[in-house]
Amino acid sequence: HAKAQGRSGISIYTQNMQQETQDKLNLYNDLHQAIEQQAFTLVFQPQINEQTEITGAEVLCRWTNRGVPVSPEVFIRAAEETRLILPLGQWILSESCRVLKRWRQQNVLPESFRRLAVNISPAQFMDENFERYVTDQVSGNDLCSAQLELEITESIFLGNKDTIRSKMQRLSSMGFTFALDDFGTGYSSLSYLQHLPLHKLKIDRSFVMDIEDNTRPARIVDSIIQMGQNLGMDIIAEGVEHQAQRDYLQNHGCCEFQGYLFSRPLAEDEFLEFVRHNSALAHH
Ligand code: C2E
Ligand code: MG
Ligand code: MG
Ligand code: MG
Repeated sequence: HAKAQGRSGISIYTQNMQQETQDKLNLYNDLHQAIEQQAFTLVFQPQINEQTEITGAEVLCRWTNRGVPVSPEVFIRAAEETRLILPLGQWILSESCRVLKRWRQQNVLPESFRRLAVNISPAQFMDENFERYVTDQVSGNDLCSAQLELEITESIFLGNKDTIRSKMQRLSSMGFTFALDDFGTGYSSLSYLQHLPLHKLKIDRSFVMDIEDNTRPARIVDSIIQMGQNLGMDIIAEGVEHQAQRDYLQNHGCCEFQGYLFSRPLAEDEFLEFVRHNSALAHH
């Protein structure tokens, strides 16, 4: 490092910045190519009710770039920065619908299965083609809109309120449902909860993590559940890793769970194996 600072007169600081910029550009380029080549895969994380039946699954996107898995936190953010999220998001939606159609046709889903939850980035939701695209995918795969749950985060509410509300209302009157992801961590003005057709609150993992100590996070979880119930919303907790967390949530009125306690996100064949195993348990 001492050498790098030396004769050239370029400071390490500047060199680091140049390196970072170069890394970013490389990432954007790779991402662009990956989208053209459809080099992504989807995994599915089961959602579980009080009876330990499977009520749905969340779709999560995976990408391995030059042999190295890239975290969605990284590549989804990069895609958002470049608007590559639009084609990527469309691929995720259409692939999700194709998979769900296949499961329906093969009749492999349990009766308790309600819907597939797909994460929707703010830019994707705000895109003027979003409604047409999502409805085309649903009808093109012989699904009904109620079989798809759109997961949005509070960051969406930074956009134009009227546009967001009318879009959500149109989609929701068509039968799509909305879940508010990572609830409690964003720019939440609770007034949004009054005006928007939100079907479900997803309690963020950071609250679930510390439940066991029965201190403030646990109190916050109580309050979220209470509030959601008062507003007639469904509640699901994400990041449930321990039985004690599930017990606490269930005792306080949260009836749906997602997390490593039940399953990590699974490739399609693993997911179907999980479904078979789970219904075998439920019937004996
Ligand atoms: P998210 O939507 O809140 O997804 C939940 C994340 O928590 C996933 O991380 C999941 O693998 C992880 N997780 C699930 N159960 C547990 C658990 O018990 N413990 C812990 N520690 N983690 C758990 P992942 O797959 O790395 O995704 C991270 C984020 O990237 C997602 O957060 C979402 O914001 C974004 N993302 C992932 N896939 C997509 C996608 O297809 N579209 C969009 N727009 N965003 C996506
Ligand atoms: Mg999510
Ligand atoms: Mg989440
Ligand atoms: Mg989260």
